[in-house]
Amino acid sequence: MKAISVLGSTGSIGTQTLEIAEEFPEQFRVVALTAGRNLELLVKQIQRHTPELVAVADADLLPELQQRLKALTAEQRPQQLPQLVGGPDGLNVAASWDSADLVVTGIVGCAGLLPTLAAVRAGKDLALANKETLIAAAPVVLPELKKSGSRLLPADSEHSAIFQCLQGTPWAENARLSTGSPTPGLRRIQLTASGGAFRDWDAADLENATVADATSHPNWSMGRKITVDSASLMNKGLEVIEAHYLFGLDYDHIEIVIHPQSIIHSMIELADSSVLAQLGWPDMKLPILYCLSWPERLETPWRRLNLMEVGQLSFSGPDPDKYPCMELAYAAGRAGGTMPAVMNAANEEAVAQFLEERIHFLDIPEVIEAACERHKPDLMDHPQLENVLQVDQWARSAVREQVNRGTSRVSVSALAAA
Ligand code: NDP
Repeated sequence: MKAISVLGSTGSIGTQTLEIAEEFPEQFRVVALTAGRNLELLVKQIQRHTPELVAVADADLLPELQQRLKALTAEQRPQQLPQLVGGPDGLNVAASWDSADLVVTGIVGCAGLLPTLAAVRAGKDLALANKETLIAAAPVVLPELKKSGSRLLPADSEHSAIFQCLQGTPWAENARLSTGSPTPGLRRIQLTASGGAFRDWDAADLENATVADATSHPNWSMGRKITVDSASLMNKGLEVIEAHYLFGLDYDHIEIVIHPQSIIHSMIELADSSVLAQLGWPDMKLPILYCLSWPERLETPWRRLNLMEVGQLSFSGPDPDKYPCMELAYAAGRAGGTMPAVMNAANEEAVAQFLEERIHFLDIPEVIEAACERHKPDLMDHPQLENVLQVDQWARSAVREQVNRGTSRVSVSALAAA
């Protein structure tokens, strides 16, 4: 039985991980949970999974959590109450919890960086969902991985697809550690993208995009931040950088293909020109399960893929004019060093401002580009952890400053709202 620690247990990745744990009680045992603010759901998860340890991101919420657990009746209360911890140190304790064999990183954004690093330093295997960590801090995380021997198992469906395809090659041994070194025999990666919420919109109509429009994904059910990233194709851009660090390919050999059906989760081309793909219905539970069960495969009763039902699979190239965030991500990835951290933090802040309706959807690439441009003279090629944390904070405040000053479109969206 594998013991798992679930970081971000109250989110989309976290809840799906716990559903899997419930479905396979013989295989998986939940030993630690972390949450942000959703104490109601967290208490239910404690009742169901009786973890040994629970951490909340904000230590001020600990008394309320204690209160909620105390208020449970004897029947509702789990046999053993967990140890409760809070704040950044608490998250790190959950990430490096002694009895955990594998840590699922389902915290959204750069907030997942320090806990992920704590898990790596403790030598834990990771089911990596939190892509922002690797994007912002690969120069710090990859050497730590080599040192500790932790294995990075990609939970993102595209990277899981690549990882799964690589298992069938003679280079599986080299590919499975994901240490950022070039994967022998791997010639090209094609990341598939659904095209997000706006895939059927004309670029000109994006002027009218609202938060409700951007947060309704046609194929996948995910958290709000990643759904907006999918609409702007920044999510795919982030995945390009993630793929670069996971599989060691240069950016010229990582391509994005729009595939509206989301049935092919990504493809690899090998040295002999053979192309391998992994297929399935768009459901995050499969890549998460593969992280948990790897190198085994578990029998599931889940809906089986029927291509006759799907009918058609279609593909096209992404339109760079419609999706400027994609180009920004390639540029930041190629610049390397601290630039991906700046771009990632600027994107997180821009998306947060968009979700609060302080900027327009089309402002998102504008403010990210401005932050990246300002960072160019200060770019560090080989940053340390403190440099990454510092540029992350700088980029967030640079975006906030710009939003407060106003951009051309901020006034447009303010007018529209008035
Ligand atoms: P959600 O927004 O659904 O969940 C985020 C989780 O992180 C919640 O448990 C939340 O707690 C917690 N959290 C939020 N802020 C903080 C913080 N400052 N400190 C600690 N914990 C915090 O996100 P998703 O599950 O969609 O995404 C999680 C990660 O996985 C992201 O990096 C995303 O890119 C990646 N990913 C997600 C996919 C998906 O299908 N959802 C697919 C592939 C990758 P609470 O809710 O209690 O406040």
